[in-house]
Amino acid sequence: SDEREVLTYDLFGTAARELAQQVADDGFEPDLILSIARGGLFLGGALGYALDVKNLFVMNVEFYTGVDERLDLPVVLPPTLDAVDLTGANVLVADDVADTGKTLELVRDFCAGYVSAVRTAVVYEKSRSLVRCDYVWRRTDAWIDFPWSSQPPVRTRSARPAH
Ligand code: 5GP
Repeated sequence: SDEREVLTYDLFGTAARELAQQVADDGFEPDLILSIARGGLFLGGALGYALDVKNLFVMNVEFYTGVDERLDLPVVLPPTLDAVDLTGANVLVADDVADTGKTLELVRDFCAGYVSAVRTAVVYEKSRSLVRCDYVWRRTDAWIDFPWSSQPPVRTRSARPAH
């Protein structure tokens, strides 16, 4: 359908606070927050402040795109997170949206062998997601416009001055 869910930066601020409140009310005390780049960096940073967690990690995960091909499964891109950093920790995984849920499933399974507990927080979860996230702000099946990716990258306004 043509339906769109539009998230503004203003609403995102509300979403992050409300998700943090869900985590706190649940009694979950993360030792570290693991953001899935790039879309999960915003939520991970906001949750870090709202939950007073300074231990922030990033994992780069993408659906591999080769020449004219897109695999069914996401892959972890290097540099890979050192498993030692995760051992015994309560980990909160942050992402923008669980759509198919394959990205979060991969990250959750990556962590599962090392950590004490892993829980997932997302701004949106779609009904087809194969992962049921622990903390969800809103549910939708529409395509979501996130404020950080709704505009194309900036371009130079003029030629760079010579150095
Ligand atoms: P997955 O299908 O593995 O759950 O989602 C992979 C990634 O695809 C998400 O983290 C997000 O970056 C992107 N994605 C999935 N659904 C949407 C959407 O509705 N809007 C936007 N902008 N990105 C999406």
